[in-house]
Amino acid sequence: MDPVKKIAQLVRAGATLTAYTCPACGTVLVRLKTGELYCANCERTVVLVKTEEEAQQALEIVQLREVRRIVFDKILQLGREIEKLSASEMVDHLRSMSLLIDIYERLSRLHGEGQRQQPKSPS
Ligand SMILES: [Zn+2]
Repeated sequence: MDPVKKIAQLVRAGATLTAYTCPACGTVLVRLKTGELYCANCERTVVLVKTEEEAQQALEIVQLREVRRIVFDKILQLGREIEKLSASEMVDHLRSMSLLIDIYERLSRLHGEGQRQQPKSPS
């Protein structure tokens, strides 16, 4: 169907026109009653990252998740090595593990906060 006709149809059905355009094809996006942005030309919903700040935030969460995974692997690795160590060597190992677990917990907290944030609606 002609996207213009489709948009008109959606608007009659209660959707609203927005100032946004589709990043893929440039067609004006409509906001559906569900709150989703929709491209009538691509026939799919579009998720817009509203600001540079939010894009940066999203990126940081992904990167922190990666760091957390590396820390977790290290904890497991140290845990496996403990078995083979003498008592004096073990103290250093456990100290390192304790630090890593501490970092891991902090990263988990940060990660949790990132997920709880509500997306801001554009004005
Ligand atoms: Zn499109």
